[in-house]
Amino acid sequence: MYSCVFDGAKASIVKTIPDEMRFIRRPTMARRRIIAGNWKMNKTPSEAVALCAELKDLVKNDAVDVVYCVPAIDIVPVVEAVKGTNVHVGAENFYIEDKGAFTGEISAPMLKDAGVEYIIIGHSERRDIFGENDILINQKVKKAFASGLKPILCCGESLTLRKAGTYKEWIERQITWDLDGVTADQVKELVIAYEPIWAIGTGETATADQAEEVCALIRELIAKLYDQATADAVRIQYGGSMNAGNAAELLSKANIDGGLIGGASLKPDFGQIVNA
Ligand code: PEP
Repeated sequence: MYSCVFDGAKASIVKTIPDEMRFIRRPTMARRRIIAGNWKMNKTPSEAVALCAELKDLVKNDAVDVVYCVPAIDIVPVVEAVKGTNVHVGAENFYIEDKGAFTGEISAPMLKDAGVEYIIIGHSERRDIFGENDILINQKVKKAFASGLKPILCCGESLTLRKAGTYKEWIERQITWDLDGVTADQVKELVIAYEPIWAIGTGETATADQAEEVCALIRELIAKLYDQATADAVRIQYGGSMNAGNAAELLSKANIDGGLIGGASLKPDFGQIVNA
């Protein structure tokens, strides 16, 4: 397995993937599709309940895991509103301690007790606006697993890195740091969301081929860091302006097992993505 060396705020990877290991085509195994909405800082509690009612019939699909990741204040009413439906509830953030003097934060045991199953970790908005680095993100991944929450671990490159052509190395570095000390059995339960920052909330979607290239790269990385069985089990989503019009093509790709959806998760379009 690869390992990372943490040195204060810096970390370095001790191995990299040889070029010949990239994009090896392997028979795909059936992975259950997962479509998750990231509501971000939208919807008051009463608006959240109304949205659940609006989407209830539209998101029915027994073959897909459907998740609403909602603001902390909406968790309790949304858990109540989706009872008896196929919808699972996720949170958008938490802190790594169980309790104590951490004003404004919410803990994993609080989320679990409220009925949360999934947790978004490492979203580019938390990395860029709130300064979360890979050391904290790695701690959050481990804490989530230890607390019985399923992480949706986000990674993705900026437009600058995409244009510079160094985006593959960036993604490999993010994932390698973020999974340091995470076991193969845990990674089998993990969801990784590839979200190019230049495609988030911009209306500019990565082409299906661009998205597949990186999702395949991530799966190869997991095979290298762990083993092929783990790589075959981990679910990888694409996120970035996915909508009712482009979802089917993106989701048809061999290594894209679902989507993390921002803007379109707040509209009836979300039902079309679930059923794409
Ligand atoms: C996101 O924020 O995770 C996201 C993918 O947003 P959008 O779908 O709006 O681009």
